[in-house]
Formats: sequence, C-alpha cells, structure tokens
Amino acid sequence: MEFEERTIKVIIDTDKCPDCLSKACIEACKVYSRAILQLSDGRPSVSHLSPEELRRRGTECLACEYECWQRGNNAIYIEIPIKGLDDYLRKRSLK
Ligand code: SF4
Repeated sequence: MEFEERTIKVIIDTDKCPDCLSKACIEACKVYSRAILQLSDGRPSVSHLSPEELRRRGTECLACEYECWQRGNNAIYIEIPIKGLDDYLRKRSLK
C-alpha cells in the first residue's frame, strides 16, 4: 500500500502487518499526525481518505516509519524527494 502526502510518498509492506503485535504506526499517527493511518483487518489503511484529503491532512512527520522500525516489523519506507540532491551527490562522486 502506498499514498502521497504533500511532498512525500509513504510505502507500507502490509504483508508484514498481521504478525505485528504493537501496531505502533497507528498510535504514532494519532499522537504526531492527524490519525491518517487507521487499522483495518489487522493492517494500517488510508482507504477512508481521498488522495486530496491525504495531501491536506498529512503532516509529513515520519513518525509511523520510525515507530514501525523501532517497535513494528520494519514495514514502512518513506520517500522524501530533495530537489538537487542527485546532482549534488554526483558532483561529489558520492553516487
Ligand atoms: S507498526 Fe509496522 S508492521 Fe506494525 S502494523 Fe504498523 S506498519 Fe505494520
């Protein structure tokens, strides 16, 4: 499952979620964002929101990724595009 907020893309491998005991992403989303992630059938879901609502309500806090990494099953990956980063890394032979 994946969705976009204003500038980021959140990718969740929900195959890892049924075995997760903490469901830490859900609580993190309530505490640090606006409860975008809701539990549905043992997995986080955003199906209750339209793409426009996700972009409007998302705070891009990254808390779900951190909490899943710390207390879940490492199922969340967030892409954060940074304009010019590829050129910067290439110029310094870091890519
Ligand atoms: S914390 Fe991670 S593994 Fe657990 S339900 Fe959330 S996304 Fe899935």
